[in-house]
Parts: sequence; C-alpha cells; structure tokens
Amino acid sequence: MSLTLSKKAQAVKPSSTLAITAKAKEMRAQGIDVVGFGAGEPDFNTPENVCDSAISAIKEGFTKYTPASGTNELKEAICKKFKEFNGIDYAPNQIVISNGGKHSLSNVFDAILNPGDEVIIPAPYWLSYPEMVKLSDGVPVTIVGERENGYKVTASQVQDAITPKTKALILNTPSNPTGMIYEEEELRKIADVVVKNDIYVVADEMYEYLIYGEEKHVSIASLHEEIYKRTITCSGLSKSYAMTGWRIGYTGSSVEIAKLMGSVQSHATSNPNSIAQKAALEALTGPQDTVDNMREEFNKRRVYMYERVSKMPHVYLLEPKGAFYVFIDVSKAVEKTYKGEAINSAARLAEILLADYNTAVVPCADFGFPNHIRLSYAISMEQIEKGLDRFESFLKSL
Ligand SMILES: *Cc1c(COP(=O)(O)O)cnc(C)c1O
Repeated sequence: MSLTLSKKAQAVKPSSTLAITAKAKEMRAQGIDVVGFGAGEPDFNTPENVCDSAISAIKEGFTKYTPASGTNELKEAICKKFKEFNGIDYAPNQIVISNGGKHSLSNVFDAILNPGDEVIIPAPYWLSYPEMVKLSDGVPVTIVGERENGYKVTASQVQDAITPKTKALILNTPSNPTGMIYEEEELRKIADVVVKNDIYVVADEMYEYLIYGEEKHVSIASLHEEIYKRTITCSGLSKSYAMTGWRIGYTGSSVEIAKLMGSVQSHATSNPNSIAQKAALEALTGPQDTVDNMREEFNKRRVYMYERVSKMPHVYLLEPKGAFYVFIDVSKAVEKTYKGEAINSAARLAEILLADYNTAVVPCADFGFPNHIRLSYAISMEQIEKGLDRFESFLKSL
C-alpha cells in the first residue's frame, strides 16, 4: 500500500490543447512557419502604466505578505469596478483575490462542494471546468447548448438536469470556446430556475470586457436580490488587461462563501503576489485606453475571420460576439476523405492541418463538443490572413 498515488490526481485529464500547442512549438523550433490559432491569451503586451506600477511596487518594498485574500485597496477597487461595470454591489469582505481566474474558480468549488454534489456544466465548455469540479470531489453533469440557440443552454434544459444532488450551475459569458454571450432575457429565465431550485451559480465572466458591436455584458448577479445571493461572480485581469502571467483573479460572493474561500486560500497559497496586486490596482483604476484599443483590434480580426470562414466550403459558424475565439462546425468536413483516408474526427482534421498545412487549431472534443474546432484571433492580422488561406486551401481540396 505504500507507493500508490492519488486516484483523484490520476483521474485528471491532461490538457489536449497543450498537446497541439507543444507540437506546433516543436515544428517552429525546426524552422517551420507554423500559424498558431491555438492561443488562449491576448497577444498584446501588458499596458505600460501597469508594468510601471509593478516596478514602483518592487522599488518601494511592497514585496512582503499581504492579507491572504488580497489587499484592502485592491478589494475596494474591485468593488468599484463591480458596481460601475457590472451593476453589482459587493463590499470588500465579499471579495477574494486569488492567483488567477483558475485559482478563483477552484477556491469556489472547494468552498461549496461536498463529495458527490453535482455541478451542471453547459457544453461547449472551457475544458478545465469538469476537471476542477472533480478535484473538489464534485460530479460534473453536462448539458448541451444547441447551435440553434447559439450554443447556449435554455432555462428548461437547466431545470431538466436538476436532481436532489445538484449544487451549482456554471455559466460562462462571454463563452470560451464559442464567443457567444447570454442576453438579459435568457439570464432572467435561468435565474428563475436557479432560485426555484435553490442552487448556486458560478458565473465565469473572465471575458466581460471583450464584447463587440452593439452587445452588452450582463452579469446574472445584477438581476435581483434572490439571484445575487446565490451567485459567485468570477473574473480576473488575465484576458481584459493582457495580464495572463501576472496571475490575478477575483470573486464576489456572499460574505460566508468569501470567508471559506479565504481560509482555504490562506493555507494553500496565502496571498496572491503582492507586486501583481499593485499592478492590478493600476489596471483597474488607471487609464483604460489600452483596453479600448485592444478591443478595437480584436474586433477587426473577429469581423475578418467571420467573413472569410463563412464563405469557406464544408464548414459552418455563427458570428461570435465576445471573447477572442471563433467556433467552427466541421462535421461536414470530417465526412470527407483526405489522401484516400476518411477524416472522421475534428482531432484528425487538426492533425492534418498541422502536419500538411502548418496550421494549428484546437479540436473541441475535450470542450464537450466533437466535430468542432476553435480558432483564436489573439494573433496578428497578418498571421490570421496566412492561416485562413491555408485553412481554405485545405477545405477546397476535400
Ligand atoms: C482564461 C480563462 C480563465 C482564467 O484565466 P487565468 O489565466 O487563470 O486568470 C477562466 N475562465 C475562462 C473561460 C478562461 O478562458
């Protein structure tokens, strides 16, 4: 019995997106000109004012432990942002700042789940959700967002998935991988189901600033008091401020949940990096023009990709409204043969694209959606043009 390992850890699926990225990297190292549509992070630099504030923090000696759940000044800035941008009232004792959005989510599941509790996860989903739920002893229950409904789930689908063991629903808007967003009306209906069945909502709003055109971000917790009480709103600096490496995420929740998350975190990691907290403070309270510029640039790429891919044969896509991904239905393409061999799956299609067209895309079976691929537009316009040319010539060859 001595040298056995954790069954829970062994049951975790290694990230399939990393496998494709690793292969692309290897090819690049060999001097091959690979276009990588796999990027899960902005290609922009962290804004200069943010970097400068971190340098000052170091020089001023802000390099020691802070309170485990984050500094009060940053919590206050987050409260102000929640109030002004999301229309949600949280006090500083309802905020927990963690080491990135992923850590925030994992703290949430640790705070609310008991062994066997079910968490409803709408597919297509961000591939970490089911694994995180399992690591916190929960049971992921998948429901499927149909294409006709913008790959979103309806309130009645949520209702049908509820059992006496249901503890929470994860709601990710804007969505990774689909780029879709939930409208206020849809959220109201889902909120009714949540309140009626007395479960939690884990609202992952990491891409809340990256919304294009006329669309507006709506936070479910802002709708009314009853849903506010049951929601843990999760966000962070990674995607909105091009700060993926700094590792700052945060939540707004009831005081009770915030306390539990804070104590879990106080033993697991203590405070998030003190310097990154100063940088986050500057990001949230300083000038916002770089965020606007990034959004504008993302929007140009989004429009270009949507227009081009819509005209390609054997594929189908909806116009993405947020985040920085296009989600492409390749079910017709995988029915074709390539070099005399049936393609059969999005994973095989991605392999062919990488091997023969030097183009990396993410197959979405691990996002709970076979026969679909995700292309990120967090790469330069020049790369996008080149990559889409290659994708198009592959499709035309089928
Ligand atoms: C990137 C991402 C996060 C968290 O990102 P961190 O890098 O951990 O801050 C959370 N949810 C979704 C859907 C994401 O794509």
